[in-house]
Amino acid sequence: MEFIDLGAQRAAIGPDRIAARIRAVLDHGGFIMGPEVRALEAALAAFCGAKHCVSCANGTDALQLALMTLGIGPGDAVLVPSFTFAATAEVVPPLGATPVFVDIDESDFGMDPDSLMRGIEAARSAGLVPRAVMPVDLFGLPPDLDAISAIAAAEDLHLICDAAQSFGARHGDRTAGAIGEISTTSFFPAKPLGCYGDGGALFTDDDGHADMLRSLRVHGKGSHKYDNARIGVNSRLDTIQAAILLEKLAVFPGELKARTAAADRYGALLGNRVKVPRVPEGRVSSWAQYTLTLPEGADRDAMQAAMKASGVPTAVYYPRPLHLQGPYAGFPHDPAGLPVTENLAPRVLSLPMHPYLTEEVQAQVAAATIGALEVA
Ligand SMILES: *Cc1c(COP(=O)(O)O)cnc(C)c1O
Repeated sequence: MEFIDLGAQRAAIGPDRIAARIRAVLDHGGFIMGPEVRALEAALAAFCGAKHCVSCANGTDALQLALMTLGIGPGDAVLVPSFTFAATAEVVPPLGATPVFVDIDESDFGMDPDSLMRGIEAARSAGLVPRAVMPVDLFGLPPDLDAISAIAAAEDLHLICDAAQSFGARHGDRTAGAIGEISTTSFFPAKPLGCYGDGGALFTDDDGHADMLRSLRVHGKGSHKYDNARIGVNSRLDTIQAAILLEKLAVFPGELKARTAAADRYGALLGNRVKVPRVPEGRVSSWAQYTLTLPEGADRDAMQAAMKASGVPTAVYYPRPLHLQGPYAGFPHDPAGLPVTENLAPRVLSLPMHPYLTEEVQAQVAAATIGALEVA
C-alpha cells in the first residue's frame, strides 16, 4: 500500500500521454520558459479565477518572491502559524524580517484569528512593524479567511495565502489561488497537483505585483535579459515540469472529486472511533492529507508501528511546531502561548490519501487504525 500512489495516477492518465508531452519538449528544445510554461500559467489562472499566474521553481521560492514583491524587509514582522511546514517561516529571516508565530484553531488546523491579533500586538511591542500575514491551508483546508482578511484589512497587513497544500480548495465562492493579495502554491510531487520534480506558482489580481514577480524570478530583469532593474533570484519553472502539469491538470477536477469521496468514506468508517477532520460549512478541502487527532495521551509511535505491521503506511505532519525548534525558537510568538499547536502536534496522524484509493484499501486502513487505537 502506498501513502500517496503516484503510480496509480500515471496509469490512470495513461503513461504515454505524459511521455508524449515530455518528448514534445525534447523536440522543440525550449527548456527554459518554453510554450508549455505560458500555457500552464494561463490554464492555472483560469482554473483559480485569478488574473495572473506566475510560475516559479518551487513553493518555497513562491513565498519568498511574494515577500520580495511586497518589499518586506528589516524591521518588518510577518505573522505565520507555527504548525506548518518550515518553508512558511523560513523565507522570512533571509529578507531581514521577523516571523511572529501564531496559534491555530483546533477545528481546522488553520490560523486562529484571536491569536493573530495578539501576535500583531506582540510584534508591535517588540518594536517591529507588522506588514504581512501568511495563513496556511493546512492539509488542503483554507482557514477562517473571512476573519483573517478582516484583520489584515483593519491592521493594514498584506495577506499572502500559503496554498501549497490546497490547490483546488475553496473558501466561499473563491478558489484557493484567488484568495488574498498574493497566493502561492507548490507542485512538489506529493501535493494535490504535483509535477515530477520541484515547481511552484503565485497568483494575484494586481498587475503591478505580477510584473514585479515576473522580473524577480529572472534575476530582477528589466526591459531585456541583461538589463537588471533590481536584485532578483533565479526561480523559473522548467518547461518539462509545465508540460507534465498540463497533463495532470486535465485529470485534476476528477481527482478532487475522488479525494472528497475518499475522505467521506474514511469519515464514515472512522468517525465514531476517533476524531476525524471535518470541513466547515462553505469551504472545500483539496484533501492533501487526511489527518486524525488521536486521543490525548495515545501512544502514536506504537500506533504507527502496529499499522505498519498490518501493511498500512502513516505519516506525522508535523511532529514539532516551528516555535519549539532551535532556529526558530528566538522569534516572537503570541504572548498567550500556542497551546493548541502544542497540544495537537503529538496527536496528529495522517492516513494514506490520494485519488486512487479503493474501498477495499480504505477498509483495510480503517481496520488497522481501529486495531491500533486499541493498543495505543
Ligand atoms: C510544501 C509546502 C511548501 C513548500 O513547497 P516546496 O515546493 O516544497 O518548496 C510551503 N508551505 C507549505 C505549507 C507546504 O506544505
